[in-house]
Amino acid sequence: MLAYQHAYHAGNFADIHKHLTLFAVIQHVLRKNSAITYIDTHAGRGCYPLNATESRKLMEYRTGVSPLWQARRELGARNALVNAWLEQVESVQQGREEELTHYPGSPWWLAQALRPQDRLSLFELHPGEHRHLDAQPLPANARRIHGDGLVGMTRMLPVGTPRLCVLIDPSYERKEEYQEVATALRDLARKVRHAVALVWYPLLPAGRHREMLERMRDDGLCKLWQAELQLAAPSDSHGMYGSGMLVLNPPWGLEKELTAVMEAVVPLLAASAHYRSGWWVGE
Ligand code: SAM
Repeated sequence: MLAYQHAYHAGNFADIHKHLTLFAVIQHVLRKNSAITYIDTHAGRGCYPLNATESRKLMEYRTGVSPLWQARRELGARNALVNAWLEQVESVQQGREEELTHYPGSPWWLAQALRPQDRLSLFELHPGEHRHLDAQPLPANARRIHGDGLVGMTRMLPVGTPRLCVLIDPSYERKEEYQEVATALRDLARKVRHAVALVWYPLLPAGRHREMLERMRDDGLCKLWQAELQLAAPSDSHGMYGSGMLVLNPPWGLEKELTAVMEAVVPLLAASAHYRSGWWVGE
């Protein structure tokens, strides 16, 4: 079953959480010259026109990127990382000056960071989504693979560059995906000890993410950092009430930077929203 299409959700609060975290990690990666391989296991379309039928149906960007876009001058003055992130968002807009027309997905965020020595592998399993991804203009060192991302990523290990950064961002349509993600992260950590990996997960009333987190702890992973952005209380919600991020081997200083970012951003997403972070498993 592959029913999920990210275009229905592009630019929502979870994308903001995920892509600001990804962007902050990339800024650390770029501080060193040594080559890096990026792997995006669940790539989606790459960039999303917000006037597409799918995006207009739920308009989730209205409680995600839109309020940040509207407040971009004040936000930019308040936080340099948010300012740099908003400048990147600005660079994909195709309308009149003030209009928000597009939202960039993870392949775009990773591709904009590529230097000649780096590599990027983008996995996408859905044939239609892969066709959209194929149509994106991407640098020559970005490879698009129509196939299973967790299986494909594990087969690629170890990689030919000194450094590795992986984004795991499934749709969690099947409940087994939570355990599959835990297995893939365990195998990644065993094969490439220094790999930086980001895992996104939804906060849903069923709470399946908790079993995934416990499994990661039981598997003996270490240096696993966690951040959760909660928009509403679980009891008040039928759908996704929050967004979770894990970062394996987080760069030094990431938590402090993201705390400042989220202090500026989170009040714009919902009055009741709050953000917390800390080690899920320490060293
Ligand atoms: N990472 C994207 C971003 O941030 O812009 C969004 C990805 S979306 C949450 C999940 C994507 O994974 C969907 O496009 C879906 O078609 C794709 N997908 C589902 N199962 C997959 C699998 N086993 N391997 C690779 N892609 C898969």
